[in-house]
Amino acid sequence: IVFVNRSLAMEKIKCFGFDMDYTLAVYKSPEYESMGFDLTVERLVSIGYPQELLNFVYDPSFPTRGLVFDTMYGNLLKVDGYGNILVCVHGFNFVRGPDIREMYPNKFIQRGDTERFYILNTLFNLPETYLFACLVDFFSNCSRYSSCETGFKDGDLFMSYKSMFQDVRDGVDWIHFKGSLKEKTVENLEKYVVKDPKLPLLLSRMNEVAKVFLATNSDFKYTEKIMTYLFDFPHGPKPGTPHRPWKSYFDLILVDARKPVFFGEGTVLRQVDTITGRLKIGTYTGSLQHGIVYSGGSSDIVCDLLGAKGKDIIYIGDHIFGDILKSKKRQGWRTFLVIPELAQELHVWTDKTIFEELQSLECFLRHNDRLKAQVVGRHYLINLHKDEQLLSFHVFTSVNETDQLCGAHVYRVDVGIVLFNMWNRVKQIFV
Ligand SMILES: [Mg+2]
Repeated sequence: IVFVNRSLAMEKIKCFGFDMDYTLAVYKSPEYESMGFDLTVERLVSIGYPQELLNFVYDPSFPTRGLVFDTMYGNLLKVDGYGNILVCVHGFNFVRGPDIREMYPNKFIQRGDTERFYILNTLFNLPETYLFACLVDFFSNCSRYSSCETGFKDGDLFMSYKSMFQDVRDGVDWIHFKGSLKEKTVENLEKYVVKDPKLPLLLSRMNEVAKVFLATNSDFKYTEKIMTYLFDFPHGPKPGTPHRPWKSYFDLILVDARKPVFFGEGTVLRQVDTITGRLKIGTYTGSLQHGIVYSGGSSDIVCDLLGAKGKDIIYIGDHIFGDILKSKKRQGWRTFLVIPELAQELHVWTDKTIFEELQSLECFLRHNDRLKAQVVGRHYLINLHKDEQLLSFHVFTSVNETDQLCGAHVYRVDVGIVLFNMWNRVKQIFV
């Protein structure tokens, strides 16, 4: 399913660009995240975190992409496009409205304060999102530690949420770049990467009408293994046609792209020796040649090599900031955001029974004067009164949030499920 913010004449597109990780190469969920989670935990234990952490088990139903971690108070926050807090969870404890207000005046955060707030933007962030909750929960409930406002105390030692956050971030980077995440992935590709026999056909059809390029932040060695696997069929574009190597489907291949820097000043463009995987010395100055793999570069270089202008290019990626916002705002590329999670949300809107429950919730809210519900923009603002206590809900709604997507960091799916769960709570309170 494709949502569009504005119409796009596909015949005017001269180049299709692809990101690799989580775009062409879809990692199997929750197997891949679960491995990332376990490796990060092992890393934390190896740098001195308690052994008990090894008992953590990844729960794919908890984290969602786009949450914000507050490094001061150790909370995971779901915020809307403006910074209003919709949900606040400390460990696994959902914080109530009045308590949220105590920590966050007006239930609002300055999302731009990146020193304090970290946005968990990509699917690669899911394991650590859950890990933050596990760690806060563990230290809050462990008798050896006492909780304070900005961290935990163990005797004379103070561990701030900020330092815990930094350890996790460093741990995640470590498993990606130095540890065994990639190694383990390529050792067992069937387990971790989705393989679609229609991919060669898709790319060859695109290549009949336009140029096709790959721009990935991954290195050549890893890209080569993943892409070889994705195109490893006995046939070519169609069953019956001869097999073609993956590189033949692309007019231009760029690894180590360093997005988002890639969409600005970029880095030095070098040629990769595809036999040894090493980089050749010096900057590449030749013309575009099929089968050459480049490292680094920038979006301007891509335009030059392909002989295209920004608006001729559509770039398909899964990273709202690194792939989509930067390419659109800085280069005027047309963009296509891949959101696999949206399928789940659509299920809520197409499943009749859930949808009917939602409608009866709306009806219930409308006809009960203790409840006030109003729709503000794309939000349901629902105020619940019980025993003179105001329980306020602020729920993000609507599947038509794609335009919001490009400006905001909130793209929580399962909206229907949130409402659905709330409906059950409403019933418990009032019925
Ligand atoms: Mg990606």
